Amino acid sequence: MPILNRAAELQDEVTEWRRHIHERPELLFAVENTAAFVAEKLKEFGVDEIVTGIGRTGVVGLIKGQGEGGRTIGLRADMDALPLTEISGKPWASTTPGKMHACGHDGHTAMLLGAAKYLAETRNFNGNIAVIFQPAEEGGGGGNLMVKDGMMERFGIEEVYGMHNLPGLPVGHFAIRSGAIMAATDEFTITIKGRGGHAAQPHRTIDPIAIGAQIVSNLQLVASRNVDPLRSVVVSVTKFNAGFAHNVIPNDATIAGTVRTLDEEVRNLAETRLKQIVNGLVAAHGAEVDIDFNRNYPVTFNHATETGHAVRIAGEIAGAGNVNAEIDPMMGGEDFSYMLNARPGAFIFIGNGDTAGLHNPAYDFNDETIAHGISYWVRLAEQRLGA
Ligand SMILES: [Zn+2]
Ligand SMILES: [Zn+2]
Repeated sequence: MPILNRAAELQDEVTEWRRHIHERPELLFAVENTAAFVAEKLKEFGVDEIVTGIGRTGVVGLIKGQGEGGRTIGLRADMDALPLTEISGKPWASTTPGKMHACGHDGHTAMLLGAAKYLAETRNFNGNIAVIFQPAEEGGGGGNLMVKDGMMERFGIEEVYGMHNLPGLPVGHFAIRSGAIMAATDEFTITIKGRGGHAAQPHRTIDPIAIGAQIVSNLQLVASRNVDPLRSVVVSVTKFNAGFAHNVIPNDATIAGTVRTLDEEVRNLAETRLKQIVNGLVAAHGAEVDIDFNRNYPVTFNHATETGHAVRIAGEIAGAGNVNAEIDPMMGGEDFSYMLNARPGAFIFIGNGDTAGLHNPAYDFNDETIAHGISYWVRLAEQRLGA
């Protein structure tokens, strides 16, 4: 089965919504206008229950099928933009400098609205569909907050599905894998407290820059000498701040960066080794240190059975040959991971075609993908709920 006819009919209307949202990007939890737009549309479609303010500014709509009760599945989109200034030059480009939809969450929101419209019209399923619109995916953990707010229990959600566009994957294609598909994204900040002084009398100082340089190079050994080469880890130092003059050794240096892993065992090992290396080097040179290791988004882990459902439905829409069921995991993060830790489900990529990359100021969501995305949501919901 290719794209659903009704989804193709919705293409123009959903494109309008997508561009409306694109022009008006909002950041993190401050997605009030986008959330209001979503809630207004859901009301217009006749969605049975609309709850706002879950996870601060998240919205959930419940669409009831035929018969009483039944199972409930969740379909999730994200609503927030990024702190970038858009250079796409499109007529619907962001009207706010310093904010833009550079990750396609405008498209995700619009496609899920399109699916909600379709499903509220047809109700060709038993049970209920919860359409989930979350804030603060790009840092902030809005998905985590919605789960903590009791969303799964409140709506009786038993399975959850997510979808993200992927530049470079042709339009109409899908990609997914069972197991870890995106990384845990932990962050560290290391503050080395030495003793500053005259640059010509280094023996009277404890030089935090010299110690910091050793920390940067020794942290590379976590990946090359501690973690099994067949398993994945990234340790990237992305900031090193110290000093202010040619002739002064400063008191302090700050080093920060990120650790990316695909399983808990490696995640724990990387944190332990990072702390041992830093503490050991600092002690060897007589300085002191503060290490702030912040466990951010967990691994996005696709459950095997639900990934199977996703692959089958994507194959019906796109043709089995256009579904990559074994895409390599990516070392970026995704806070749909919290929903997948709460309920079984699967996160799939949908092709955005040959566009600029995610988080690039020239990026734009590809509207040609809309009918494919709506078709996937609708057929997944209908099939999981025994239409
Ligand atoms: Zn993003
Ligand atoms: Zn994203």
